[in-house]
Amino acid sequence: MPTTLEPLAWTLLAVIGLLVGSFLNVVIHRLPRHESIVFPGSHCPLCGHELRPWDNIPVLSWLSLRGRCRYCQGAISGRYPLVEIVAALLAILAAWVIGWHGQLLPALILLWALLALTLIDLETYLLPDRITKSGMVLGLLINASAFLTQDFALTRPLDALLGLVLGYGLLRGLAEIYLRLSGREGMGHGDFKLLGMIGAWLGWQDMFLALFLAALSGGLVAIVFLASGKGRDYAIPFGPYLALGAATMLLWPQVVIEQFLHLAAP
Ligand SMILES: [Zn+2]
Repeated sequence: MPTTLEPLAWTLLAVIGLLVGSFLNVVIHRLPRHESIVFPGSHCPLCGHELRPWDNIPVLSWLSLRGRCRYCQGAISGRYPLVEIVAALLAILAAWVIGWHGQLLPALILLWALLALTLIDLETYLLPDRITKSGMVLGLLINASAFLTQDFALTRPLDALLGLVLGYGLLRGLAEIYLRLSGREGMGHGDFKLLGMIGAWLGWQDMFLALFLAALSGGLVAIVFLASGKGRDYAIPFGPYLALGAATMLLWPQVVIEQFLHLAAP
């Protein structure tokens, strides 16, 4: 793009990121409660008062009202502006790493979906089907676009299909074995669907590496938890680690693959 347009493009992307973050707040709040994400319009999570457009400007409304509802004066969690800022930063990071390329579009959608899933899982230990299952279909469709144009696909269509099947099947199988051996549920069904979704977007190769990164980072955190004397039955959701692994494979696949090869054959 012409360099004179670059600052405009970055600003626009940041604003879109903030607006998407505002929408993600609605998704994170309503999906686990099985509420519609469209109706009714935005309302205060405390008093239910309908919000006017000027109450709903990302970050700025929260700052100008000092984190309180205009109508009931109740404290509005700082998570709302934070999610908006993170959504915008993710967009800028993706554009910086990927460049102004057609693949930026699916990358943004995936990163924002992973952000919503992470926060929902941390709060409710659920990964809603409405995101993971729709994500599987959308990932397959985006990669199937490779039959028409190479501009948007993140991987080859067959690798995406294999990623979906292997990702879902592998975790399901592992969970089955764990259940037989320990008599406990190790992972939720949402985790299988999320890994299947990751496979549908990134292909089976990167899906495996994302799972490896998730197990590595999740294992490290679990060791810290155990060492610090927190109960061993303390449930840590696996979804955020899968999301982290997937985001890493989306943005820096070469770095991970090089490190992985280095580990395998030093
Ligand atoms: Zn209120």
